[in-house]
Amino acid sequence: MPHQPRVSYTISPARPEAHIFDVSCTVADPDPSGQVFRLPAWIPGSYMIREFARNIVTLKAECDGRPVGIEKLDKHSWRAAPVARGRALTLSYEVYAWDLSVRAAHLDATHGFFNGTSVFLAVEGKTGEPCYVDILPPAGPALQTWKVATTLKRPAGDPLAAPAMGFGLYYADNYDELVDHPVEMGSFTHARFEAAGVPHEIVLTGRHDCDLERLCTDLASVCTWQIELFGTPAPVDRYLFLTMVVGDGYGGLEHRSSTALLTSRGDLPYAGMGEQTEGYRTFLGLCSHEYFHTWNVKRIKPAAFTPYDLASENYTRLLWAFEGFTSYYDDLALVRSGVIAVEDYLALLGKTMSNVLRSGGRLKQSVAESSFDAWIKYYRQDENAPNAIVSYYAKGALIALALDLQLRAASAGRKSLDDVMRLLWQRHGQTGEGVAEDGLFALVGEVAEAGLKGAGRRLSRWLKDAVEGTEDLPLDEFLRPFGIEYRAEAAAKGASLGVKLAAGNGEAKLANVFDGGAAQRCGLSAGDVLVALDGLKVTAASLDGQLARRKPGEQVTIHAFRRDELMQFTAELAAPPADTVKLASGKRVSAPMRALRKGWLGA
Ligand SMILES: [Zn+2]
Repeated sequence: MPHQPRVSYTISPARPEAHIFDVSCTVADPDPSGQVFRLPAWIPGSYMIREFARNIVTLKAECDGRPVGIEKLDKHSWRAAPVARGRALTLSYEVYAWDLSVRAAHLDATHGFFNGTSVFLAVEGKTGEPCYVDILPPAGPALQTWKVATTLKRPAGDPLAAPAMGFGLYYADNYDELVDHPVEMGSFTHARFEAAGVPHEIVLTGRHDCDLERLCTDLASVCTWQIELFGTPAPVDRYLFLTMVVGDGYGGLEHRSSTALLTSRGDLPYAGMGEQTEGYRTFLGLCSHEYFHTWNVKRIKPAAFTPYDLASENYTRLLWAFEGFTSYYDDLALVRSGVIAVEDYLALLGKTMSNVLRSGGRLKQSVAESSFDAWIKYYRQDENAPNAIVSYYAKGALIALALDLQLRAASAGRKSLDDVMRLLWQRHGQTGEGVAEDGLFALVGEVAEAGLKGAGRRLSRWLKDAVEGTEDLPLDEFLRPFGIEYRAEAAAKGASLGVKLAAGNGEAKLANVFDGGAAQRCGLSAGDVLVALDGLKVTAASLDGQLARRKPGEQVTIHAFRRDELMQFTAELAAPPADTVKLASGKRVSAPMRALRKGWLGA
């Protein structure tokens, strides 16, 4: 229990119909030269400047019931006029909350959700101090069934402390902690399970028919496996999956002892579902991903994030390790914990490989560069993104896979990427010392050397080249000792135009035009709407079928609208690229191969 903190906040879902949270921040001993307040420009885990201050609608300051002048310093900072020593200063402001994502805040008559980075102004000079947050209930009888779900701590012994899952007083040891526990309020579904002795909870907001028992059983297996991978005790004493269920949505954001998730209703399991669906595997993969971040990025961090600077971009070339390795382990944890079958895992892995092969940007940008430029490229993708960007998630996951397979093969199964993760946990996660920008190379080399004398330098070098280079990884070669066959084939028959259509089944609108493809060579552009191929009408639904009947090298006349002008193009069709990867168990799998595979996949 902290002493009465000198900083305290209140937040109230004051006007759900207007999507307005009323927030106040009281400072018991404000800076005598004028207290400065600042709202973050970004939220950790989502590497883009979002300028949350743009959602502050009105703001005023007062002291002893009298208004205090307030001056705007820059886009997200304010300074209140000096007040008499020993007098408390209170800032009151309205926050517009209508962003249905895991990154900001959302409020209507059905529920409220917020990340602290969207609603709590930091008090300059006091961000290291403990603070109270009073989460106030909504008004009106329709809203009296609301509960609160968050991993913010409750001040034990304080008469105003919130009851379990209730409105009232919560606290955080510092500002960094305050904004790392998202809060959900509403009439949600709530379930509990245990993993390695640690209580876990899942909260589902929105209409759903989820089979909670099945979900909890599967999540318990995945969480237990991850805790055991890094070693007990778990780094948290409780964990919360906050889930917003919608018709069509997907997203997740990691926090120190919880995660905020957005999922499609159809991806949740339902009573009587029987066989696992692809959508459910996607949801389990998302939960597994965010949970793995509890170690990898929330505690094992790049030095560039220790501490975070929430006012501007925090550059690191390491997101391939923090997002890529996490992406590798998210699905791997599902198969290793027995929640999905080996064949399903190989299909997921093949999909990641296909995703990388389908972006020409992989030949131009390294994952180190992609990490560094996440702020302006990966998070701000436009129609040219596939031609210019490599995903540090997908290619980072393949680098993790390649490392894991090489470590296992070189050491006859004695060493693996698991050892790398455990070493990172011991040296960085448990000590709080950030990982240096070149810190991974030597650490991987150290694990490799322990597995096979002389392998350390080679693997360390290999990793540096893979991370800083743009060549395709020889994955087929790495998979061979595990008795897994790699095959890349064309996704479609016939001929290719080298385009991706915009979502929807109506007009054939080009979302992307791939570098060097038939469409780009004849002058078609993203945004163009194809209307006819050789004089025959074409739609989004018919394009693939029309191309399937053609041959590479054939010429076709294409009519398309650009803006509102009809244009004609002559395209020479190309062969469809062999960019769909299929992984399968080889025909002849020797005993050593089988042993390596069992170590890797658990079966
Ligand atoms: Zn992630």
